[in-house]
Amino acid sequence: MSLPSVSLRCASFLLTGALGFFLLLSASQPLAAQAGGSNDRYLDRAKRILRQTPLIDTHNDLPWRIREDSIARGNVDAYDLRKRTRGHTDFDRLKKGMVGAQFWSVYTPGDWRDSGYARVQLEQIAIARQVIAKYPDRLALALSANDIRRDFKQGKIGSLLGLEGGHAIENSLGALRAYYDLGVRYMTLTHNVTLDWADAANDSAKHGGLTPFGDSVVREMNRLGMLVDLSHVSPATMSDALNVSQAPVIFSHSSARGLVDVPRNVPDSILRRLSANGGVVMVTFVPGFVSPAVLLYDQNTTRPAIQELRKRFGDDTAAITRATKEWSSTHPAPRATLSQVADHIEYVRRLAGVDHVGIGGDFDGISEVPQGLEDVSTYPALFAELARRGWSDNDLRKLAGENFLRVFAQAESVAKRLQKK
Ligand SMILES: [Zn+2]
Repeated sequence: MSLPSVSLRCASFLLTGALGFFLLLSASQPLAAQAGGSNDRYLDRAKRILRQTPLIDTHNDLPWRIREDSIARGNVDAYDLRKRTRGHTDFDRLKKGMVGAQFWSVYTPGDWRDSGYARVQLEQIAIARQVIAKYPDRLALALSANDIRRDFKQGKIGSLLGLEGGHAIENSLGALRAYYDLGVRYMTLTHNVTLDWADAANDSAKHGGLTPFGDSVVREMNRLGMLVDLSHVSPATMSDALNVSQAPVIFSHSSARGLVDVPRNVPDSILRRLSANGGVVMVTFVPGFVSPAVLLYDQNTTRPAIQELRKRFGDDTAAITRATKEWSSTHPAPRATLSQVADHIEYVRRLAGVDHVGIGGDFDGISEVPQGLEDVSTYPALFAELARRGWSDNDLRKLAGENFLRVFAQAESVAKRLQKK
């Protein structure tokens, strides 16, 4: 079964709300990629590097995957990571993928206005904290750059919380501080909805970037030592945040707009400002952000088809889901590839510098995956590809985790300095 190639979490311009969730739950999971024979020399090098340096991925939607799972329904015990799961993530595959540390996204939808953003946010933090606590032999709550290195030495996956997005603070700096105390170490300023204080990439621009309150959110994050995440925000918000932030920023899961012109990707003008800021773009695997062919297909074929089905079935989301699946099975979409993800990594490297690129796959937040990057077991193949393209061991280490660790440690020292004032 082939589903429309979009990120349900990250590109809601196409599939939103109940339909998106249904599709995510029913997505088929292809088998992990196998490395080709001629690649083995490079794969061996990749594995050696990932044994020495923690591979840090800054975006995995497991907590929301558990919440929305058709069977487990938010039950952390029922969604057993020691067995093969229905999603992209479990311990066997994390081990094969040599994942050293992971930001578990505590995503909450920005368009659920009736239930209260903060309540859903607290529930998602609770799910993530339960997952981390349930497997003390495999996972450890990490709150600092040093924690990540400590956990890696002990053979555990340093587990961090990344909050997506800023609607969850409900315009309150007090709520922001409380989230930090609960373990949140980055906040994506917006998700897909423009807030009272920040414009989102996939929504209309109301403020031309950040409002004065938006500036104070960034300043408070600097003071706390919470990383400012600029994935999902508009270019003007990116620019304003770079002007205000005293600490390096991150893009927890974005690719290069110079290769695929979609608002969720990072424009060249921003990439060129990253070395001055010190920040890092964690390149994502979302097919529609990685492959121009997938994007075109989504825009010209999938989107009109789904709009037509919505018109036909109205509020009957189950019927829309069934019809969409049927439509998808007879209209196979193009696939993004591992090689295209490597192209984005090299593009960011070219414009921003090798010190400003990392990995933020978005596993369990997407229904479609690139060929060769099917789940969390596949990271070594990506490093092997870059090794084959001539990346040095040192540069691969930077990509894997050293760049992110530098950014995190710098944000921590900025916080210490600001707290003294
Ligand atoms: Zn996202």
